[in-house]
Amino acid sequence: MSILPLIFERSAPGKRALRFPKPDVPEVAAADLIPPEYLRAEAPNLPEVAEVEVVRHFTQLSRRNHGVDVDFYPLGSCTMKYNPRINETVARLPGVALTHPLQPAETVQGNLKLLHTMEQHLCEVTGMDRMTFQPAAGAHGELTGVLLIKKYHETRGDVARKKIIVPDSAHGTNPATAAMAGFDVISIKSAGDGSVDLAALRAAVGPDTAGLMMTNPSTMGLFDPNVKEIADIVHKAGGLVYYDGANLNAIMGYTRPGDMGFDVVHLNLHKTFSQPHGGGGPGAGPVGVKKILEPYLPVPVVEKQGEQYVLDWDRPESIGKLRAFTGSFGVMARAYAYLIAYGPELKEVSEYAVLNANYVMAHLRKYYDLPVDRYCMHECVLSAKTLKNEVGVKTLDIAKRLLDEGVHPPTIYFPLIVEEAIMIEPTETEDKATLDRFVASMVKIYEEAKVDPEKVKGAPFTTVVGRLDEALAARKPNLRFKGSVGWASGALLLGLGARVGGSVAPRG
Ligand SMILES: *Cc1c(COP(=O)(O)O)cnc(C)c1O
Repeated sequence: MSILPLIFERSAPGKRALRFPKPDVPEVAAADLIPPEYLRAEAPNLPEVAEVEVVRHFTQLSRRNHGVDVDFYPLGSCTMKYNPRINETVARLPGVALTHPLQPAETVQGNLKLLHTMEQHLCEVTGMDRMTFQPAAGAHGELTGVLLIKKYHETRGDVARKKIIVPDSAHGTNPATAAMAGFDVISIKSAGDGSVDLAALRAAVGPDTAGLMMTNPSTMGLFDPNVKEIADIVHKAGGLVYYDGANLNAIMGYTRPGDMGFDVVHLNLHKTFSQPHGGGGPGAGPVGVKKILEPYLPVPVVEKQGEQYVLDWDRPESIGKLRAFTGSFGVMARAYAYLIAYGPELKEVSEYAVLNANYVMAHLRKYYDLPVDRYCMHECVLSAKTLKNEVGVKTLDIAKRLLDEGVHPPTIYFPLIVEEAIMIEPTETEDKATLDRFVASMVKIYEEAKVDPEKVKGAPFTTVVGRLDEALAARKPNLRFKGSVGWASGALLLGLGARVGGSVAPRG
């Protein structure tokens, strides 16, 4: 494949995708509508191209990108599963796509009903009492949840509670959230079996404990068997417990954070509930709470009064707003379609997510290290530590070689507590044949590393650009077009270089 020209390089003066008819209404000069200080002195430098060139440009770009609709995408902690197309049809219904968030409630009763009904369903799935759909992502949900915990203590005058406990197997966003909300973060080491060290937890709690944030299953892909006791220990010390439920597709229909004693939980609709994501697309991180936190939920809250759905803004103890309106409504519509499509069979999602991850783990443990030998949940964490010591082939090299197999690499070097980590999340939407093909690729790379390590270290060979200087691509990405064509092509190359490898830091 050749280097793709920039859209600016396709530009020629006077080319147009569209020609407007002469206006049949009086023209109004921009200066009559916009204050002069906001007006441009000269026209913007936009590419001038025909419609067919625009279509070809973006289609070609998309074909150089790996997505779930292209092939297997086992990116750990990200749930890159297939998103049913019927959800897209639902999200594009005029009543969903074309309503305005400022419309009076009586004109959007169906939309409010959707939010209200989905709140009830998700409270049922999580074992919580109320839910807000405002947060735009998982990490945003965490911030919302931790601010709710903060408000709870403040309202009670319990102002000495300045610390949030976070196990070292938590998702990286957990400690970041706690710090952002103004808490001191206390990290707790995991025990040898990957669960939270209860003795360390008992030693850490006290009158300064605001709460604990727990990712369960942890970033090791393991369910903590002591989860109820962990919640009890923190509660006895006067703290609240937060459940990072981003990966609910591991437990849905089997167990519920509410029943485990948790006070607040966030979900990632863009993982568990099938919203297209990656590349920073829209998501939603709804937050469910127990009754004790309900007064503090962000405004507005959707309520049902008689037969009418209303937006309730009159909540004096609310933490305020976290985002405009009620959140990303199109995301809710897709998640709702997914929820009702499954209904009571929702637990099958978890069954297959867990089965698939264990299937991959069972096959690959003969070749790669298994840091904790337990059944995993929706993802498994392996390591290439032995291979690296024996032949010098690192996890990064394996990830690069997988690109030649047409597979998106798993998450690598995460969780941080595992050396040379390879975190694989096949998701429930993959069939056995795909998993077998992936296992065969991983075995092939292992065997190749043993006989020809230099080959693996040189990968990838079949991608548009080969192995690049990762550090330079990440630290000094040159992504801005400044008009010089040669310079810009180099920048594009660097940009690609930053993207073609395994994902080092997982992003929802
Ligand atoms: C993905 C993920 C998050 C963060 O979600 P974003 O939507 O990317 O902000 C938090 N916790 C866990 C366990 C996750 O897997």
